[in-house]
Amino acid sequence: MQNKQNRWIIHVDMDAFYASVEVLDNPYLKNKPVIVGGTSNRGVVCAASYAARTYGIHSAMPIITAKRLCPNGTFLPVRMQRYQELSKQVFNCFYQITPHVEGLSVDEAFLDVTGGKLLHGDFETIAWKIKNLIKDKTGLTASVGLAPNKYLAKIASDLDKPDGFFYIKPNKIQETIDPLPVKCVWGIGPKAVEALKHLQIHLIKDLRDTDYKIFKKIFKNRAQHFYELSHGIDNRKVEKQTKDKSISNEQTFSSDLTDLKDMNIQILYLSEMVAWRLRQQNLKGKTISLKIRLSNLKRLSRQLSIDNPTNSTATIYNISKDLLNTWFKLQYNPSVRLLGVEVSNFNNNSQLNLFEAQADIKSNKIDSVLDTIKKKYGIDSLKRANLINIKRN
Ligand SMILES: [Mg+2]
Repeated sequence: MQNKQNRWIIHVDMDAFYASVEVLDNPYLKNKPVIVGGTSNRGVVCAASYAARTYGIHSAMPIITAKRLCPNGTFLPVRMQRYQELSKQVFNCFYQITPHVEGLSVDEAFLDVTGGKLLHGDFETIAWKIKNLIKDKTGLTASVGLAPNKYLAKIASDLDKPDGFFYIKPNKIQETIDPLPVKCVWGIGPKAVEALKHLQIHLIKDLRDTDYKIFKKIFKNRAQHFYELSHGIDNRKVEKQTKDKSISNEQTFSSDLTDLKDMNIQILYLSEMVAWRLRQQNLKGKTISLKIRLSNLKRLSRQLSIDNPTNSTATIYNISKDLLNTWFKLQYNPSVRLLGVEVSNFNNNSQLNLFEAQADIKSNKIDSVLDTIKKKYGIDSLKRANLINIKRN
């Protein structure tokens, strides 16, 4: 069993990103315990400097606990705009090396450097180049993992943190990942870790040696995926982000959402808003993105590109809902503060097959009837049945 494609993937993860930005802007905080996440006792830790981590402080811990562990630490509020500025500079470094960049959050991305060998030297040199470029341009340190696929690259960037570099060579895959705990498998959350523990499966090696029936039992329809990961196999591509214009709507909730049903209703509302705005401007897009901000302020996004550009509420809703549900299934009790839906990669030439065309006409008809009513009576005049009870903040 092996990876189908010969790819070279780099995973870059900034070290204690928000806290490091604060230290960058306030150099006297260097090597001191810095905790970002608000100054009041409510709320949770969004980032802790490595000095703060030695006190046992980590992300998502209640601020009040962190204050008890380290009363003399520097507690700072979140300055998201500043972090985003730095994030942009970091991503600009990536684009100097390759256009094949997939951002996972403000401080984390995959780069496919398979085609970069001639231009930039061997893959190790490329990985170091990225690391040094980030340090030069921003003054911040990153941990970099280099491996033949996304999953292994993500593992690698975590093996030498902070300011790390780790290279998983193709002939060293199994011996590198086997001794790691199963929680290092990308997507295995605390719930699955607990279930595996009951079966005496603690390390990736234990998981790899497990009967496929166990995979079926624990991971259901994701069994094959996790079976492959336990063998170091991952054939997912780096999904390039478009730099095109986009249309998006997002909603911050007055109290965090924990129920998937509530989230899906919000997704319907957001899809409706985005699709309506696209139709008003006669735009259709091929990339649908879902944005999530968790209660610990960590941001992430998921996206899917389709062959035929769309501005149909039904299509945008179904895709963003699927992205949300796929993400949700792999989490343990996620608490969501913000959801957003975005359509980008505009292109108005669609080539539908006969069945898709018929489905599209039907959904377009519904959209155009709704749009006529909205134009006449205002955007809130008509809501799909599920939206009637939606709370707008
Ligand atoms: Mg990070």
